[in-house]
Amino acid sequence: MELTEVFGSNVFSDKVMKQRLPKEVYKALKGTIEMGTPLKPEVADVVANAMKDWAIEKGATHYTHWFQPLTGITAEKHDSFISPTPDGGVLLEFSGKQLIQGEPDASSFPSGGLRATFEARGYTVWDCTSPAFLKEDESGHVTLTIPTAFYSYNGEALDKKTPLLRSMAAVSKQALRVLRALGNTTSVKVTATVGPEQEYFLVDKKFYLDRLDLLLAGRTLFGAPAPKGQELEDQYFGAIKDRVSDYMRDLNTELWKMGITSKTQHNEVAPAQYEMAPVFATTNVATDHNQLVMETMQKVAFRHDLVCLLHEKPYAGINGSGKHNNWSLSTNDGINLLEPGSTPSENVQFLVFLSAVLKAVDTHADILRATCAHAANDHRLGANEAPPAIISIFMGDELTEILEKISKGQKITAKGTQFVNVGVDTLPTIPKDNTDRNRTSPFAFTGNKFEFRTVGSSQSISGPNVALNTIAAEALDEFATRLEKAKDKNAEAAAIIKETYKKHSRVIFNGNNYSDELVKEATKRGLPNVANSVDALKAFVTNKAFALFEKYEVLSHKELHSRYDIYVEHYAKQINIEALAAIDMAKKQFIPAAIEYATFLADSIGSFESVPIAATVQKDLVKKLGSVLTSAYSSLGKLEAAVGKSQTVAGCVKMAESYRDKVVPAMQALRKDVDSLETIVPRDMWPVPTYADLLFKL
Ligand code: ADP
Ligand code: MG
Repeated sequence: MELTEVFGSNVFSDKVMKQRLPKEVYKALKGTIEMGTPLKPEVADVVANAMKDWAIEKGATHYTHWFQPLTGITAEKHDSFISPTPDGGVLLEFSGKQLIQGEPDASSFPSGGLRATFEARGYTVWDCTSPAFLKEDESGHVTLTIPTAFYSYNGEALDKKTPLLRSMAAVSKQALRVLRALGNTTSVKVTATVGPEQEYFLVDKKFYLDRLDLLLAGRTLFGAPAPKGQELEDQYFGAIKDRVSDYMRDLNTELWKMGITSKTQHNEVAPAQYEMAPVFATTNVATDHNQLVMETMQKVAFRHDLVCLLHEKPYAGINGSGKHNNWSLSTNDGINLLEPGSTPSENVQFLVFLSAVLKAVDTHADILRATCAHAANDHRLGANEAPPAIISIFMGDELTEILEKISKGQKITAKGTQFVNVGVDTLPTIPKDNTDRNRTSPFAFTGNKFEFRTVGSSQSISGPNVALNTIAAEALDEFATRLEKAKDKNAEAAAIIKETYKKHSRVIFNGNNYSDELVKEATKRGLPNVANSVDALKAFVTNKAFALFEKYEVLSHKELHSRYDIYVEHYAKQINIEALAAIDMAKKQFIPAAIEYATFLADSIGSFESVPIAATVQKDLVKKLGSVLTSAYSSLGKLEAAVGKSQTVAGCVKMAESYRDKVVPAMQALRKDVDSLETIVPRDMWPVPTYADLLFKL
């Protein structure tokens, strides 16, 4: 098949709907998709039937309501289309009711106390703004997959999609108010757009299966560095190996079939690290697609005897993986609101929206940080390669200068800029292509969008975008109220830009974010710097957060609390798994291997006694080995004690703190000893594949 035919072949797309639905039904459904008009049951019945016929023609036997519980991954329960008939046969049926609502047993999904287990009711509801599609597995099993939102009997969100849809509505409403106040009469909807770049590692399956840590924790808990790391800088954008390229080709085909616009692929900085970037879409579709991207990456890798590691830090000492969340706002008539324009009025609009982001990020840096807080990302944030735990904005020098001058009421005289008069103020033509890219900033303006880089590679992008949309809505709301009241809109816009810069420019940092200077600056400027997840997550349960998310009806007080509890608990569980895996490996693999080598050395010393050569080397080695082994054994004991203690701590926050303060350091100490054993014990006695195997034998 041609690529153009492959693309979207498994999607119940607009094109398919147009072909298969009666005109009136199609129009009604489009109204629901685009403007949220309520869907009539008769319409749903016709859509369901068309969807079923299409899916069956493509080989489907089952359908599923696909949802995104707070585990961060997706869930699905499959039902076949069969419905028994009195004569012992079956009919294939799928009603509008089945399309619209499902009732999976929700008792085993985390709800953070929102729903007692005895009343397990949870509902999935069709999200028609993200198209239904077919999931195909290698054996040819095809399932009609319907994106849905998941909530409790009382209407509380139990998932990651519900607040995302609410936040999209909130930002659309407030952005439109600003646009109207500035004289826009044409746009009727504003969409938050997202393009998430996905980083990942590949490892040979046979090595992966030989390491309990990779298998259970997704990262190496031990491993002495290989003689080579990423210092030669020979991997980034390097030629893609055949084996990897073969994998990427299959991956792309699977993604394209589901209508996912996999566009860019390349080698990343670390050995065996890669990236895939799609073309941006609405936040909701981009989020659904990113979940499918992660799932498909792992599935296809297995077919190639590879394993795809999505963990933020699979290996110590080399780069980890993130997910660059490119975000912007766009009107239904195609105006990117973060794109500098060519006319004065377009530029006023651009600067107002830019100012809204500036205000939003500075006011709620703590919340943005919290949306990226999980145990795995702790290894990355603040480490050498990743954006730091401090949230700051990169604006670029030119744009900063323009804002600076506006704030001081100065004339703008930057060279190459053209001057235009806007009301009482002077605004230049803003440089369009902001090529001065800063790769170290956690939140960078890149010409016509912001790139939020704190997001981790394994996490759902829903949370970060819920926050972005909501904090932007709040800032835009405030600006809209001012603009609506003002007689002279341009003067008011100029005042908004000026005041916002004065108040919030402290969050702009155009320098190198990996430097110590940032930390000093952050302290001086009062920017929050929270290095660990347990503390960072607290930003979800402050009065500021409750007020923000409740005002825009994105998350209630109760919903925020439940999320906070779930994430904190998840942190403790994750560290507990890691610690148990570390204990298991040390006890059953590393310490026995070291003892085996020590025995070998002792035997060798014994046999040397019968010959007139002194066993000085063996004696020296056994001494060194003995001392590290003793230390490792003691570290193991300490780790076991720390885990035992943490497991019994009452209260999820206290427990997570105990894992953070007692277990994590104990794991690090054990790792140090084991890694040092690895440098002494012979290669063929070492029980697990080494960093060189994992990173270079691909
Ligand atoms: P980079 O140099 O960071 O790779 P690209 O221009 O290749 O930058 O874009 C990276 C990602 O940003 C892509 O997924 C792209 O689709 C996305 N992107 C581009 N424009 C927008 C936009 N207006 N809104 C959201 N994402 C966007
Ligand atoms: Mg990028």
